[in-house]
Amino acid sequence: MRTRSLAAVSAGSALGLAVLAHSLPAVTVLPRVRRRLFPRLSGVGRVGHVALTFDDGPDPKATPALLGELDRLGWKATFFMLGMMVDRDRGLAAEVAAAGHEIALHGYEHRNHLYRGPAAVLGDLRRGFDTVATATGTVPTLFRPPYGVLSSAGLTSALLIGLRPVLWTSWGRDWTAEATGETVLCELTAGVRSRRGYAGPTLLLHDSDCTSEVGSFHAMFGALPLLGEWANSEGWEVGTLADHFQ
Ligand SMILES: [Zn+2]
Repeated sequence: MRTRSLAAVSAGSALGLAVLAHSLPAVTVLPRVRRRLFPRLSGVGRVGHVALTFDDGPDPKATPALLGELDRLGWKATFFMLGMMVDRDRGLAAEVAAAGHEIALHGYEHRNHLYRGPAAVLGDLRRGFDTVATATGTVPTLFRPPYGVLSSAGLTSALLIGLRPVLWTSWGRDWTAEATGETVLCELTAGVRSRRGYAGPTLLLHDSDCTSEVGSFHAMFGALPLLGEWANSEGWEVGTLADHFQ
């Protein structure tokens, strides 16, 4: 009886340790922890430079107009693409790459890695990587997990494929129904100090509503001109993560 209970305790401890190991990297979802302990993972780059990143696309409802707006602003950005969205419009994914933007991977499906096993996560990343690379003719080197939740399986899979995980320094909360251009700008720039002596932040926006409120990308479009004014007045240079980490 005693032997059986000891075995049960030890099995429970092993399971607990396994769950802890699987989920430990997810603490990086906490912005303050991430910025303090893992500045590179938080997208902190060179002084005076802002990296502009878009997740969840490409989406025919938003990405073509976004390409036009980025062209007007004279900015290049990094697109963390979803393989399942690329499969819906491979030509659009190729257009993003042809316009000179940086192509990165957000996975194939948009599912939280904490609730998936290691084989499923690796399979998803491999499928996403192949889909994005084939459609765009570029080999992604950066990876951002869905919801920004990094599990040990996600981390290991990314490294196996040759992808470096990058999250963000601040987000626009542009996915909510209440978001406007003004609220998005406020969220993005809150806590970003003036560029003098401060390493550059990475900003997160979305060019699709496939995982959020329908039409939520309108708030992102409202924020971009305001972000342009902010960057000009504060003296920030805006560009891709590749430029950011030089
Ligand atoms: Zn996402």
